[in-house]
Amino acid sequence: MSSPPPAARTLGLLGGMSWESSAHYYRRLNKLIRQRLGASHSAPLILWSADFEIISGLQRADDWESLGEILAAAARGLESSGAGALLICANTMHRVADPVQAAVSIPLLHLAGVTAEAVRAAGFRRIGLLGTRFTMEADFYRDRLRAAGLEVTVPDAPTRAEVHRIIFAELVRGRREASSRLLLLEEIGRLHERGAEAVVLGCTEFGLLVSQNDTIVPLFDTTELHCRAAARWMLGE
Ligand code: GLU
Repeated sequence: MSSPPPAARTLGLLGGMSWESSAHYYRRLNKLIRQRLGASHSAPLILWSADFEIISGLQRADDWESLGEILAAAARGLESSGAGALLICANTMHRVADPVQAAVSIPLLHLAGVTAEAVRAAGFRRIGLLGTRFTMEADFYRDRLRAAGLEVTVPDAPTRAEVHRIIFAELVRGRREASSRLLLLEEIGRLHERGAEAVVLGCTEFGLLVSQNDTIVPLFDTTELHCRAAARWMLGE
Protein backbone atom coordinates (compact mmCIF):
# COMPACT_ATOMS: atom_id res chain seq x y z
CA MET A 1 0.00 0.00 0.00
CA SER A 2 1.49 3.38 -0.94
CA SER A 3 1.36 6.16 1.62
CA PRO A 4 -0.15 9.55 0.71
CA PRO A 5 2.29 12.33 -0.12
CA PRO A 6 3.12 14.64 2.80
CA ALA A 7 0.86 17.68 2.90
CA ALA A 8 3.60 20.11 3.81
CA ARG A 9 7.35 20.10 3.16
CA THR A 10 9.68 19.09 5.98
CA LEU A 11 11.49 21.89 7.80
CA GLY A 12 14.64 21.62 9.91
CA LEU A 13 14.96 23.74 13.06
CA LEU A 14 18.24 24.73 14.65
CA GLY A 15 16.81 25.39 18.09
CA GLY A 16 17.52 25.43 21.79
CA MET A 17 18.77 29.02 21.57
CA SER A 18 16.96 29.12 23.81
CA TRP A 19 14.41 26.30 24.12
CA GLU A 20 12.00 28.84 25.64
CA SER A 21 11.59 30.34 22.18
CA SER A 22 12.00 27.05 20.29
CA ALA A 23 8.96 25.71 22.15
CA HIS A 24 7.07 28.74 20.85
CA TYR A 25 8.31 28.09 17.28
CA TYR A 26 7.10 24.49 17.61
CA ARG A 27 3.59 25.50 18.66
CA ARG A 28 3.26 28.33 16.15
CA LEU A 29 4.46 26.26 13.18
CA ASN A 30 2.09 23.44 14.04
CA LYS A 31 -0.81 25.84 14.52
CA LEU A 32 -0.15 27.69 11.27
CA ILE A 33 -0.08 24.45 9.29
CA ARG A 34 -3.25 23.18 10.97
CA GLN A 35 -5.01 26.50 10.30
CA ARG A 36 -4.16 26.24 6.62
CA LEU A 37 -4.63 22.50 5.99
CA GLY A 38 -7.31 21.71 8.56
CA ALA A 39 -8.20 18.26 9.97
CA SER A 40 -5.35 16.87 12.11
CA HIS A 41 -2.60 18.30 9.94
CA SER A 42 0.56 19.40 11.71
CA ALA A 43 4.00 20.60 10.68
CA PRO A 44 6.59 18.03 9.54
CA LEU A 45 9.60 19.22 11.56
CA ILE A 46 13.03 17.96 12.49
CA LEU A 47 14.47 19.69 15.53
CA TRP A 48 18.09 19.94 16.57
CA SER A 49 18.19 21.50 20.04
CA ALA A 50 21.37 22.88 21.57
CA ASP A 51 22.49 23.03 25.18
CA PHE A 52 22.27 26.81 25.50
CA GLU A 53 24.87 27.07 28.27
CA ILE A 54 27.46 25.85 25.77
CA ILE A 55 26.21 28.20 23.05
CA SER A 56 26.06 31.25 25.32
CA GLY A 57 29.53 30.47 26.73
CA LEU A 58 30.99 30.51 23.22
CA GLN A 59 29.10 33.74 22.48
CA ARG A 60 30.62 35.35 25.58
CA ALA A 61 34.05 34.16 24.47
CA ASP A 62 33.41 35.66 21.01
CA ASP A 63 34.19 32.26 19.51
CA TRP A 64 31.95 32.57 16.47
CA GLU A 65 34.11 30.16 14.52
CA SER A 66 33.25 27.29 16.87
CA LEU A 67 29.62 28.37 16.91
CA GLY A 68 29.59 28.31 13.11
CA GLU A 69 31.08 24.81 13.11
CA ILE A 70 28.55 23.52 15.65
CA LEU A 71 25.58 24.88 13.73
CA ALA A 72 26.97 23.85 10.35
CA ALA A 73 27.36 20.25 11.57
CA ALA A 74 23.83 20.30 12.96
CA ALA A 75 22.52 21.76 9.69
CA ARG A 76 24.16 18.94 7.71
CA GLY A 77 22.47 16.46 10.05
CA LEU A 78 19.07 18.04 9.46
CA GLU A 79 19.61 18.01 5.70
CA SER A 80 20.62 14.36 5.65
CA SER A 81 17.59 13.52 7.82
CA GLY A 82 15.29 14.94 5.16
CA ALA A 83 14.79 18.64 5.92
CA GLY A 84 14.14 20.68 2.78
CA ALA A 85 14.91 24.07 4.36
CA LEU A 86 16.34 25.37 7.63
CA LEU A 87 15.62 27.94 10.31
CA ILE A 88 18.08 29.22 12.87
CA CYS A 89 15.59 29.89 15.70
CA ALA A 90 17.48 32.90 17.11
CA ASN A 91 18.48 36.32 15.82
CA THR A 92 21.93 36.37 17.39
CA MET A 93 23.03 33.10 15.84
CA HIS A 94 22.47 34.56 12.38
CA ARG A 95 25.95 35.89 12.89
CA VAL A 96 27.00 32.44 11.59
CA ALA A 97 24.31 32.23 8.90
CA ASP A 98 26.92 32.22 6.11
CA PRO A 99 28.91 29.17 7.27
CA VAL A 100 25.64 27.36 8.03
CA GLN A 101 24.27 28.08 4.56
CA ALA A 102 27.59 27.09 2.97
CA ALA A 103 27.47 23.70 4.72
CA VAL A 104 24.20 22.58 3.11
CA SER A 105 22.49 22.62 -0.25
CA ILE A 106 19.03 23.44 1.15
CA PRO A 107 17.93 27.07 1.77
CA LEU A 108 18.30 28.82 5.11
CA LEU A 109 15.31 31.13 5.66
CA HIS A 110 17.18 34.14 7.04
CA LEU A 111 15.44 35.84 9.95
CA ALA A 112 16.71 39.35 9.22
CA GLY A 113 15.76 38.96 5.56
CA VAL A 114 12.23 37.88 6.48
CA THR A 115 11.96 40.78 8.96
CA ALA A 116 13.23 43.39 6.51
CA GLU A 117 10.71 42.22 3.94
CA ALA A 118 7.82 42.50 6.44
CA VAL A 119 8.87 45.98 7.59
CA ARG A 120 9.13 47.19 3.99
CA ALA A 121 5.80 45.62 3.07
CA ALA A 122 4.18 47.54 5.95
CA GLY A 123 5.61 50.76 4.51
CA PHE A 124 8.09 51.62 7.31
CA ARG A 125 11.63 52.79 6.71
CA ARG A 126 12.96 53.95 10.09
CA ILE A 127 13.01 51.22 12.73
CA GLY A 128 14.23 50.67 16.25
CA LEU A 129 16.02 47.39 16.98
CA LEU A 130 16.03 45.53 20.29
CA GLY A 131 17.95 42.29 20.87
CA THR A 132 21.10 40.91 22.44
CA ARG A 133 24.12 43.20 22.40
CA PHE A 134 25.46 41.08 19.52
CA THR A 135 22.34 41.79 17.46
CA MET A 136 22.17 45.48 18.39
CA GLU A 137 25.88 46.25 18.11
CA ALA A 138 27.47 44.01 15.47
CA ASP A 139 27.00 44.55 11.74
CA PHE A 140 25.74 41.11 10.68
CA TYR A 141 22.10 41.89 11.52
CA ARG A 142 21.85 45.65 11.04
CA ASP A 143 23.62 45.43 7.67
CA ARG A 144 21.01 43.02 6.43
CA LEU A 145 18.25 45.47 7.47
CA ARG A 146 20.13 48.43 5.98
CA ALA A 147 20.64 46.54 2.72
CA ALA A 148 16.86 46.46 2.45
CA GLY A 149 16.82 50.27 2.68
CA LEU A 150 15.95 50.51 6.39
CA GLU A 151 17.38 53.03 8.82
CA VAL A 152 18.15 51.35 12.15
CA THR A 153 18.20 52.97 15.61
CA VAL A 154 19.33 51.11 18.75
CA PRO A 155 19.10 52.08 22.45
CA ASP A 156 21.94 53.90 24.22
CA ALA A 157 24.78 51.82 25.69
CA PRO A 158 23.42 51.44 29.29
CA THR A 159 20.01 50.37 27.97
CA ARG A 160 21.59 47.92 25.50
CA ALA A 161 23.44 46.35 28.43
CA GLU A 162 20.24 46.08 30.46
CA VAL A 163 18.23 44.59 27.58
CA HIS A 164 21.04 42.06 27.03
CA ARG A 165 20.99 41.18 30.72
CA ILE A 166 17.24 40.66 30.67
CA ILE A 167 17.58 38.19 27.80
CA PHE A 168 20.40 36.12 29.31
CA ALA A 169 19.60 36.31 33.03
CA GLU A 170 15.83 36.06 32.71
CA LEU A 171 14.14 35.19 29.42
CA VAL A 172 16.30 32.23 28.32
CA ARG A 173 15.87 30.87 31.88
CA GLY A 174 12.11 31.12 31.72
CA ARG A 175 11.82 34.14 34.00
CA ARG A 176 9.35 36.91 33.19
CA GLU A 177 9.76 39.98 35.40
CA ALA A 178 7.24 42.85 35.46
CA SER A 179 10.09 45.37 35.84
CA SER A 180 11.80 44.03 32.70
CA ARG A 181 8.58 44.15 30.76
CA LEU A 182 8.21 47.79 31.78
CA LEU A 183 11.78 48.58 30.77
CA LEU A 184 11.26 47.07 27.32
CA LEU A 185 8.02 48.99 26.83
CA GLU A 186 9.66 52.23 27.97
CA GLU A 187 12.51 51.69 25.54
CA ILE A 188 10.09 50.94 22.71
CA GLY A 189 8.45 54.29 23.45
CA ARG A 190 11.83 56.05 23.57
CA LEU A 191 12.93 54.59 20.22
CA HIS A 192 9.65 55.84 18.79
CA GLU A 193 10.30 59.32 20.20
CA ARG A 194 13.75 59.24 18.59
CA GLY A 195 12.14 58.76 15.19
CA ALA A 196 11.60 55.02 14.81
CA GLU A 197 8.28 54.40 13.06
CA ALA A 198 8.24 50.80 14.27
CA VAL A 199 10.32 48.55 16.53
CA VAL A 200 11.78 45.15 15.64
CA LEU A 201 11.69 42.68 18.52
CA GLY A 202 14.99 41.15 17.42
CA CYS A 203 15.22 38.44 20.05
CA THR A 204 13.14 35.32 19.74
CA GLU A 205 12.27 35.40 23.46
CA PHE A 206 10.82 38.95 23.50
CA GLY A 207 7.36 37.74 22.52
CA LEU A 208 7.25 35.94 25.88
CA LEU A 209 7.35 39.33 27.62
CA VAL A 210 5.69 41.97 25.40
CA SER A 211 3.16 42.01 22.60
CA GLN A 212 1.47 44.45 20.25
CA ASN A 213 -1.38 44.80 22.77
CA ASP A 214 1.02 46.54 25.17
CA THR A 215 1.93 49.52 22.99
CA ILE A 216 0.69 51.74 20.19
CA VAL A 217 4.15 51.61 18.54
CA PRO A 218 4.02 49.08 15.67
CA LEU A 219 6.05 46.00 16.64
CA PHE A 220 7.67 43.37 14.40
CA ASP A 221 8.04 40.16 16.38
CA THR A 222 10.80 38.23 14.63
CA THR A 223 9.65 34.84 15.96
CA GLU A 224 6.18 35.32 14.52
CA LEU A 225 7.51 36.60 11.19
CA HIS A 226 9.94 33.69 10.94
CA CYS A 227 7.21 31.13 11.66
CA ARG A 228 4.87 32.66 9.08
CA ALA A 229 7.57 32.72 6.40
CA ALA A 230 8.49 29.13 7.24
CA ALA A 231 4.87 28.00 7.05
CA ARG A 232 4.58 29.63 3.62
CA TRP A 233 7.67 27.72 2.49
CA MET A 234 6.29 24.46 3.93
CA LEU A 235 3.11 24.97 1.94
CA GLY A 236 5.05 25.69 -1.23
CA GLU A 237 3.88 29.30 -1.44
N1 GLU B 1 17.10 33.86 21.16
C1 GLU B 1 17.86 35.03 21.22
C2 GLU B 1 17.95 35.76 19.90
O1 GLU B 1 16.99 35.73 19.16
C3 GLU B 1 19.02 35.15 22.12
C4 GLU B 1 19.74 33.91 22.47
C5 GLU B 1 21.04 33.83 21.73
O2 GLU B 1 21.96 34.56 22.05
O3 GLU B 1 21.16 33.03 20.78
O4 GLU B 1 18.91 36.40 19.57
